Amino acid sequence: MKLLIMGRPGAGKGTQAVNIREYYNIPHISTGDMFRAAIKNQTKLGLEAKSYMDKGALVPDEVTIGIVEERLLAEDCKDGFLLDGFPRTIAQAEALDAFLKKNGIKLDAVLDVNVPQEILVRRMVGRRVCKNCGATFHVEFNAPKVEGICDNCGSPLIQRADDTEATAKNRLTVYDNQTAPLLEFYKKQNILKTVNGDQPLDKVFDDIKVVLGA
Ligand SMILES: [Zn+2]
Repeated sequence: MKLLIMGRPGAGKGTQAVNIREYYNIPHISTGDMFRAAIKNQTKLGLEAKSYMDKGALVPDEVTIGIVEERLLAEDCKDGFLLDGFPRTIAQAEALDAFLKKNGIKLDAVLDVNVPQEILVRRMVGRRVCKNCGATFHVEFNAPKVEGICDNCGSPLIQRADDTEATAKNRLTVYDNQTAPLLEFYKKQNILKTVNGDQPLDKVFDDIKVVLGA
């Protein structure tokens, strides 16, 4: 099973990635982890990536693509993998396509865990955190017994600065603008599988198994 997973921030992609990894027994390849590993193992590309990151600059596409390719050619990816966080642009998707073709690898599906933007905004905006013990609540979905007070330790709950409606909307719009062309790219290849992410997590995973046909 060779897969790619996508989803808006907060759509529960991470949880489903873990489910997929365990159920299909394939490595979960997230770009963040891959970068950390390449840097830790001091591969040529890892060191190159680090030189950009140290300067606070964006890692150029060819370096990122090189790191992904290195990883996909590893032995544990022979029978399948779950790619997460890459590609992010059409240029990266095209480079990935060319690499896969060259190596006779075919993506089985691109999963899009879909939760509508307005629902994600509601989830983020209602989030409250205890500054003292770190417990999290939600004004609508997981309200504390006393409004504004932590159930665990009695401290006041706060709303994180980045959980405001404007920030949430902006973050999601940036994501949508970036990924819309990618979804279209994979739709044209007939491998895009959209799953309704706005339901209980186990139900989402049931649907994933259905669209993957196994
Ligand atoms: Zn607390």
